Amino acid sequence: MFNISPQFANLGSEFYQLVNPEPLLNPHFIHINSPLVNQLNLGDISEDQWLNIVNGTLAVEKYKPLASLYAGHQFGVWVPQLGDGRAILIAEHKDTNKQVWEFQLKGAGQTPYSRFADGRAVLRSSIREYLCSHAMHSLGIPTTQALAIIGSSTHVVREEVETGAIVLRVAPSFIRFGHFEVFASRSQIKELNQLAGFIIDHYYPDCNNAANKFSALLDKIVNNTAKMVAKWQSVGFCHGVMNTDNMSILGLTIDYGPFGFLDKYDPNHICNHSDHEGRYSFANQPKIAWWNLGRLAQSLSLLTPAEELQQSLDNFAIYFNQYYMQEMGNKLGISNFKSDDLELLGELLNILERGNTDWTIFWYNLSKMEQDNTSFILDYVINRDELNLWLDKYLVRRKQQVLDFIDSQKLMLKANPAIVLRNYMAQNAIIAAQKGDYTEFECLFNALSTPFEMHAGHSNYYAYPPEDAVHISVSCSS
Ligand code: AMP
Ligand code: MG
Repeated sequence: MFNISPQFANLGSEFYQLVNPEPLLNPHFIHINSPLVNQLNLGDISEDQWLNIVNGTLAVEKYKPLASLYAGHQFGVWVPQLGDGRAILIAEHKDTNKQVWEFQLKGAGQTPYSRFADGRAVLRSSIREYLCSHAMHSLGIPTTQALAIIGSSTHVVREEVETGAIVLRVAPSFIRFGHFEVFASRSQIKELNQLAGFIIDHYYPDCNNAANKFSALLDKIVNNTAKMVAKWQSVGFCHGVMNTDNMSILGLTIDYGPFGFLDKYDPNHICNHSDHEGRYSFANQPKIAWWNLGRLAQSLSLLTPAEELQQSLDNFAIYFNQYYMQEMGNKLGISNFKSDDLELLGELLNILERGNTDWTIFWYNLSKMEQDNTSFILDYVINRDELNLWLDKYLVRRKQQVLDFIDSQKLMLKANPAIVLRNYMAQNAIIAAQKGDYTEFECLFNALSTPFEMHAGHSNYYAYPPEDAVHISVSCSS
């Protein structure tokens, strides 16, 4: 059972409003993330109890559900008030390692921050969030995690009438940059200070020893955000809606909407069909992360002089480059990857782009390449001659390190997944689920659990996407 240990709830009424979940009609259980349940020491809760907890018909004892207040910059435009419009915090639970986890329902009805929307989430988008957050976690990318999902017969109107679902998701904290922005914009210095102190005490306690704890806090968030985005770039993940209200203060990937993994390598890929300018294109993600951190810094500048925050913000480029080089070095099997090697990497990226090469399949097979059969990788590109010339340089460079070929290959096999959640895969699981068949959803969930291995019997997961898959339009509506 839950071991309730309120943290966020102790911040007080300026930060949230109490609200009760609104149950869905005819709820049914779809999936529970059993390893996560066990990790959180919640194995004694039955499936039936989980169904009722997620549907809001079984209240978690000793905790009053709440929706939190935040604001944000959406597509660069300031929006003074957002908040948990369809998310409700139903528990803060301490596991046996004394780590406190927030439990949040997504799609459990309206809250005081719903504005004119319905507080619901459709089955389609809930399955996408559930599978993708699991995929990201399994890839070693910091993220919120999905714990359970239920479906229902409740009608939810989007472009079409769909059915409502609720995802129960967990994270050490769901606090976003927008939580700072709302208090800064209202000149609520007391709450701003309280929020910064809360985050430092609970998540970044070392900052209390720094000369300037606010610039130390910003530095930590800058660092974690840089690490997260470097990992996104490495696996070809495009978030799609990097608004400041979707940026976690812990550097967790949060709010899965019109995200997409790259199929063919195209740095200008835009996964969100509403993003006409390409603000959130794949290649723009690091720059946007930095811009968003700038908004956070602006909020913190009400607590400490801006000059003292500037260095932390400037560190983004340094941290991002370090993490990016490490990630890409691992993909290439070069453990001592240095800035001098960026040229070699850049040449490869150009070749992959010119050849419309599949990102995941190319890298996975590069890591499978045997020492005595290096030309094998040429079969995965159409511009063989270009790649062949590059390969000569690459193989020379790959030898210039302490790792031998086999150990270098081991590094690559841990960095180049065999499977990512391509849109068409999620779509297949969704189409079946909408007909009440969750077999594909479960197969995919299992395959995504160990993304660096191929699962027998599912060769399609590791193959090129079907030709018509590129035409799948991912609606922003969710
Ligand atoms: P998103 O773009 O999904 O991150 O959402 C932006 C804001 O709109 C957040 O404050 C959400 O809580 C809110 N929101 C999105 N969809 C809904 C919905 N169906 N009902 C209520 N609020 C919503
Ligand atoms: Mg959001």
